[in-house]
Amino acid sequence: MTGGLVVVGASLAGLRAVEAARRFGYEGAVTMIGAEEHLPYDRPPLSKRYLTGAAEVTYFRSEDDLRTELAVDLRLGVAATGLDPKAHVVNTTAGDVPYERAVIATGAEPRTLPGLPELDGIVTLRTLDDADRLRSSIRPGSRLVILGAGFIGSEIASSASSLGAVCTIVESAPVPLIRAVGDEVGLALAGLHERNGTRLLLGTEVVECTGSPRLESVRLSTGETVPADLLVVGIGAVPATGWLRESGIELHPVDGGVVCDDCLRSSDADVFAAGDAVHWPNAALDMVMRLENWTNAAEQASRAGANAAYPAKAQPYETVPYFWSDWYGKRIQFVGTASAETVEFVSGGPAESRFVAIYRTGDRVVGAATLDERRKIMKLRRLIAARGPITGVHAIIGAA
Ligand code: FAD
Repeated sequence: MTGGLVVVGASLAGLRAVEAARRFGYEGAVTMIGAEEHLPYDRPPLSKRYLTGAAEVTYFRSEDDLRTELAVDLRLGVAATGLDPKAHVVNTTAGDVPYERAVIATGAEPRTLPGLPELDGIVTLRTLDDADRLRSSIRPGSRLVILGAGFIGSEIASSASSLGAVCTIVESAPVPLIRAVGDEVGLALAGLHERNGTRLLLGTEVVECTGSPRLESVRLSTGETVPADLLVVGIGAVPATGWLRESGIELHPVDGGVVCDDCLRSSDADVFAAGDAVHWPNAALDMVMRLENWTNAAEQASRAGANAAYPAKAQPYETVPYFWSDWYGKRIQFVGTASAETVEFVSGGPAESRFVAIYRTGDRVVGAATLDERRKIMKLRRLIAARGPITGVHAIIGAA
């Protein structure tokens, strides 16, 4: 055997894949390759408590733990540049790494907006280094324009305004978060910005950035010019799979994500994948999906790691998606899918400080969104997993 298990991407999914392989008894060599210099760390706080300075960075494991307990050959600050499935080799900036089986866990990277000039003060947020740069630039009175009213942009507005910054969110869609939560709940969440002093401009685009070398203002499609110290581009993420372009591994024609089967195997039998980079058929919702959330990256990678270690015993992975987001001290949670025939607020309402909204197709509950209703969401997740009927919701809501 040459090369053992090679995991590309040293973040949440990469780590969980390694842990699962070892937990299931894999004793071969394990190599983890990560482009960042940092040990695997937790990303969600970067736009929340880490950005406000209320929390330090959370590393999942110490280097000693990784190298001794998990017996990982850890290669940080090394980027994969290619993969040759025939030769069973990952090409990297530090030479070729042979593998018996590989797990792709390179996640996602910020989507960029073509045409934006390269000015100081125009930033994105994905990594710890990005968060450090952003954190050091926000001061009381700083003027932030946030491009995109998605979850990360919204969290940045919430965190920055708690530090005394003046935030304007510019969103090209007429309603934010339609794909993630649908328009009823998207509008309800938009109300949180207005109620907390963040200006939200919908149906608006940035047409010009001025200043040199530092950003001074942005001009909007409405004709308005907004003075800005920082422009945070938060218009979503795309799979970080450019390095696989010549590999022959099947990539999604639209976003370049790795196309996998139900067992998280790519188009090559010895290459598995997990996390934000992956499209796979999710039997729990009868949909092919790619998710960008923490819980999926962790759970999916555990399955991918076990399957890569023991491919003859590979098992399918399915999940009822779950994510959370924190805005202005409030917890938003979502389970399932927003692709539904109807959406109904069954507790609270769109303008209230707490609510539960249920997404329904036929008699089946397919999704749920909650605002500050932490104890209900996991029960709703179990109901959706059991393909439960709408009547099951009433017991959960009543049992608050
Ligand atoms: P990533 O965490 O993106 O890790 C991929 C790793 O691979 C990176 O370290 C990258 O440097 C490395 N890499 C990329 N290309 C290469 C290469 N060629 N060679 C070697 N290494 C490479 N989810 C929630 O559910 N709730 C939240 O509140 C939430 N908040 C978030 C806040 C922020 C600011 C961000 C960025 C994400 C948030 N998420 C949240 C999403 C969650 O963090 C991700 O779903 C999760 O990190 C995905 O894990 P991953 O390992 O697939 O990818």
